[in-house]
Amino acid sequence: MDDCIFCKIGAGKIPSAKVYEDERFLAFLDINPVSPGHTLLIPKKHVDNLFDIEEPLYSEMFQTAKKLSKSLTKAMGAKRVGVMVEGFLVHHAHVHLIPMNHGSDLNPANARKAEPAELTAIAEKIRKQI
Ligand code: AMP
Ligand code: ZN
Repeated sequence: MDDCIFCKIGAGKIPSAKVYEDERFLAFLDINPVSPGHTLLIPKKHVDNLFDIEEPLYSEMFQTAKKLSKSLTKAMGAKRVGVMVEGFLVHHAHVHLIPMNHGSDLNPANARKAEPAELTAIAEKIRKQI
C-alpha cells in the first residue's frame, strides 16, 4: 500500500534498525521501545489485521517470532520475550516482541523515544545472535 509506513520499511524505502529479514518478513526495532530490544515483526505483504493473515504465512510469521525470541533473549539478557498485538497506530499487521525481566515490563506506558544510534547498536547486537 502506497501510504503505509510499514510497507515502505518492508520495501527498504524508509530506513529502520533491522534485526532480521527474509523474502516474506522483516523484523526491526520500535522507535519508541517499551524495553531495550523491543522488536516489531511484520509480513512484507500488506495486511491490516494480524489475524486476517492467511496460512501458511500466518504460521510462518509465528515460527519467525519463535526464532527471534531466542535471539532477543540472548542478546538482551532477558528472562522472557513478551508478545503484544495492538495495531491502532499502524494498520499493517505486526507483532511486538518485548524482552522482559519482570511481569510489569509488558506495559505500553513504558514506551520512550530512543536515539537512532542506540537502536543501531542494539540491532547489531541482536543480529549477532541470529
Ligand atoms: P501499534 O499500531 O499501536 O501497534 O503501534 C505501532 C508501533 O510502531 C508503535 O510502537 C510505534 O512506536 C512504532 N513505529 C511507528 N513508526 C515506526 C518506525 N518508522 N520505525 C519503527 N517503529 C515505528
Ligand atoms: Zn503496509
